[in-house]
Amino acid sequence: MFIDEAKISVRAGKGGDGAISFRREKYVPDGGPDGGDGGNGGHIILQVDDGMKTLMDFRYKTKYSAENGENGRKKKMSGKNGSHLTLSVPPGTVVKDAETNLVIADLVEKGQSVIIAKGGKGGNGNTKYKSSIRQAPNFAEAGNPGDERILALELKLLAEVGLIGLPNVGKSTILSKVSKARPKIANYHFTTIHPNLGVVEAVKGKSFVMADIPGLIEGAHEGTGLGHDFLRHIERTRLLVHVVDISGSEGRNPVNDFEMINEELRSYSIDLAAKKQIVVGNKTDLKEDPSDIDSFRKEMESRGYDVFFISAATSDGLEDLMKEITGILANLKPSETVDVGQDKEEHKVYRYKKKERDWKIERMNEKFRIKGYSVEKLMKSTNFEDWDSVQRFQGILKKKGVFEELKKMGAGDGSTIEIEGYEFDYIE
Ligand code: GDP
Ligand code: MG
Repeated sequence: MFIDEAKISVRAGKGGDGAISFRREKYVPDGGPDGGDGGNGGHIILQVDDGMKTLMDFRYKTKYSAENGENGRKKKMSGKNGSHLTLSVPPGTVVKDAETNLVIADLVEKGQSVIIAKGGKGGNGNTKYKSSIRQAPNFAEAGNPGDERILALELKLLAEVGLIGLPNVGKSTILSKVSKARPKIANYHFTTIHPNLGVVEAVKGKSFVMADIPGLIEGAHEGTGLGHDFLRHIERTRLLVHVVDISGSEGRNPVNDFEMINEELRSYSIDLAAKKQIVVGNKTDLKEDPSDIDSFRKEMESRGYDVFFISAATSDGLEDLMKEITGILANLKPSETVDVGQDKEEHKVYRYKKKERDWKIERMNEKFRIKGYSVEKLMKSTNFEDWDSVQRFQGILKKKGVFEELKKMGAGDGSTIEIEGYEFDYIE
């Protein structure tokens, strides 16, 4: 199965900082705190859009960030929240953390969405820290940074369009000309031993996946040769493009070839034979007598098929054909034969969760270094000139169990504690 892949980096918005501010009113000498809260940073959200078929867009643009929250302001005004950024992904996208390779989300159904990177919470303004014993808090909380992650996106491509026809009619050549797939091309039968898939984008933003399905020959429905696997593959397609060599270069009659392949389809499965089919007469460059082309056209049209003529070798008519196919697909019902039910159990959605404890202590001789996101953030939110603020700082560290752990690790009076490059004396 062909896999489409992309690697992107996402950054959710940072929370705005809380404001430190005091009311200043006429005739009121010392107003209370009035610093507002910072706004929350925007999330990065992935959402399934069933109009999308590939991860192509993520190859062009690989970095995404959501808006930051605004800082709080005076007069208790909160900062505005940053807007979320929603990225559309095709159904069937598996999202992995590129660093750990763990699956974060498996996005299967239309409309399904997941917050893949959380925006940072806005910090409290100093108004929030007012209490009966603390009238004039001279500190506020810094906003949290948003999550930053590198994501590996993976998509199993299901071909919507299958190229069928006898060996050597030019299926691989067509695919190689219109997509980035590079199947082997040679002038003998069974050039391609695996189905090749390519992504075709003839109309911007409306790409589709096309498979080159070799090996469909007489007897394929009985399981001879390569036929069986390939037939299974085309069961999932929505449109069959039946390629016929109209040059007669191998001494064959194109109408007979066409009938033979369709007979194969019918004996394998009625569903398959009932799929929408268009006919493509290839190798027009080898054709000297245009009346043969006309008679082939009439034969096909009398059977109710749309017929197109191309030369895969010179690319003549190829682009128009791909645009036609894009239009036909847009008007076809979504395939009902796509089988995802079977492994539905595996399609659990995993949400990204922060670890409960995000700090640790490293001992270096008599020095203890405390590392971790929440502790570093607390540092930034503390005004060490302010007694209240320092009290709060110590209270939070105590609650986290930092002091307990320090003691366990052997910290005593006079030990040095380091956080974010600042040093403190440990006092029991
Ligand atoms: P497949 O077996 O249907 O995949 O056929 P290939 O794409 O491998 O083509 C078989 C042979 O026909 C190769 O030698 C191609 O170069 C040749 N061929 C394919 N399309 C054209 C065409 O439009 N004109 C000419 N002259 N040769 C073609
Ligand atoms: Mg081929």
